[in-house]
Amino acid sequence: MLEIKGLEVKLEEEDKQILKGVDLSIAPGTVHAIMGPNGSGKSTLSYVLSGKDGYEVTGGSATLDGEDLLDMEPEERAALGLFLAFQYPVEIPGVGNMTFLRTAVNAQRKARGEDELSAADFLKEVREKAKSLKIDAEMLKRPVNVGFSGGEKKRNEILQMAMLEPKMCILDETDSGLDVDAMKLVADGVNALRSEGRSFLVITHYQRLLDHIKPDIVHIMANGRIIKSGGPELALEVENNGYADILSEVA
Ligand code: ADP
Ligand code: MG
Ligand code: MG
Repeated sequence: MLEIKGLEVKLEEEDKQILKGVDLSIAPGTVHAIMGPNGSGKSTLSYVLSGKDGYEVTGGSATLDGEDLLDMEPEERAALGLFLAFQYPVEIPGVGNMTFLRTAVNAQRKARGEDELSAADFLKEVREKAKSLKIDAEMLKRPVNVGFSGGEKKRNEILQMAMLEPKMCILDETDSGLDVDAMKLVADGVNALRSEGRSFLVITHYQRLLDHIKPDIVHIMANGRIIKSGGPELALEVENNGYADILSEVA
């Protein structure tokens, strides 16, 4: 599915190396988690994979189903099945949430050579999926994320994900700023999407999300590298002891 080898990334604007050789291999149908101290490069990794401007790849590779991601435009990556749920979802004044979703879904269908969804089919699907995420009809009519609470924005990200049916889903601190109930809704939404052909990379600061979205593999990232990988017990170790033990063990 996703294969990252020796990925090195610096900022375009300044001479600052952020990723210093990241290796990561995610098989179909698996859930990987990345944890790590603030500033270790977790968001940078997700941005670079999704094609955000401002970063320069100085080494290594990243492929999705064998195709070179780093060579593609963001929309080509999306058409191939990559989805990123942002740590800080953006507000888009003037663009209705429903219109945004429908445009995104149909653009992706077109890129995949599929017919557009009819208005009726789209409406049925979006209402069903919104309902399961406890997103009410009113929120579907409002401009994208404008005036949404933190929890509503994150649930809206998951709604986008559910509608686009990606095969590789990256969630960047989707739990940050959420209370326990909102986090559980998000986790349920993600769990409902788990399937044999779909993989997840869940970036999180806290172990508690991983109580609800059970990862197969947990990675610890620090200073631009993945310094340790293991099973779910690694997340518990971090929860109990912080990162200090792992950092000094690796050093
Ligand atoms: P994390 O998500 O693990 O907290 P980030 O990927 O956000 O880490 O950041 C990694 C490092 O890169 C940090 O030191 C951060 O300050 C720096 N960084 C990332 N993006 C930028 C940017 N656009 N301008 C300046 N510094 C940046
Ligand atoms: Mg951070
Ligand atoms: Mg981050």
